[in-house]
Amino acid sequence: MRKKPNNLIRLESLYPRMFFDKGLYNYLKRLRTGYLFEQIIDEIFETYNYEWIIVKGFGFKEKYQNVFQIDLLIFTGNKVLHYEIKAYKDPVIYRGNIFEIIIKDSNTEKSNENREVITYKNPIEQLNENRIYLAQLFEKLNIELPIESYVIFAHPNYYIYELPAGQPFVFRGQLQNHIEEIKNTISPATEVTQNYVSYLEQHNQDITKDDYQIPNYTFESLGKKLMLPCCENHIVHITKHQYLINCQSCNRRFTMKEIAEHAVFEYQQLFNQSPTLNQLYGWTNKIFSRQRLHSWFYKQKKEG
Ligand SMILES: [Zn+2]
Repeated sequence: MRKKPNNLIRLESLYPRMFFDKGLYNYLKRLRTGYLFEQIIDEIFETYNYEWIIVKGFGFKEKYQNVFQIDLLIFTGNKVLHYEIKAYKDPVIYRGNIFEIIIKDSNTEKSNENREVITYKNPIEQLNENRIYLAQLFEKLNIELPIESYVIFAHPNYYIYELPAGQPFVFRGQLQNHIEEIKNTISPATEVTQNYVSYLEQHNQDITKDDYQIPNYTFESLGKKLMLPCCENHIVHITKHQYLINCQSCNRRFTMKEIAEHAVFEYQQLFNQSPTLNQLYGWTNKIFSRQRLHSWFYKQKKEG
């Protein structure tokens, strides 16, 4: 299972508790979609069951404090495959350094004159940058494997018009072919490969690169709600001796302690520290008694 990015965890905890403007909401949606498609791509590679080692996400802060994050690395016996996974959906036209989104309009002639042009950067720039950072790190760690880099466009409907040949791009529909081709060029991972992965993992930092500024918040400024760990539902009331609760959306079942543990986790993610008993009592909207929270989380501290 791929680890959920920190900023996604934080935003999911903040969303029910504060106002999100459109920009922030879109950022949350982007992170969610990105994470979802990364998991889909992980699964496709995993079905191959080849003797390679899959590293799902790698973050690193290099010496000039540049943060780089890599979506997927596949270590084989003779090379490392480096993938950036993009969840773009709308078809685009290739314009060199930028991609232009094609805006569909029923009134085509009119729209061609006044149409708004939306563009974003060609991801090849990020791909090349990350490959350079990665190669520098490999050199430092004496990982002697060449790196081969690709962008995977994970959304099945995505398409780039006027794309010149020879780009390191893999569309979703081509992914299986791509893996088949790759398989003819790689050798199985060895013990040396395993060691390389261990060195690298030691340098894996839990870094998330925010491309959108998350507004400041405080304990006081956030809404107090007892959230379910699965969906965007919160608990309004429980009975005194209630032990289990079902999510109305996904029907998963949680114990009260699991719900409280999730509340503690959210608090820790948002404030980088653990709550005191009083904070946790407020944070969970006073739905659990102080006694219950105490017996779950604070008892040992006192005894020890
Ligand atoms: Zn649910």
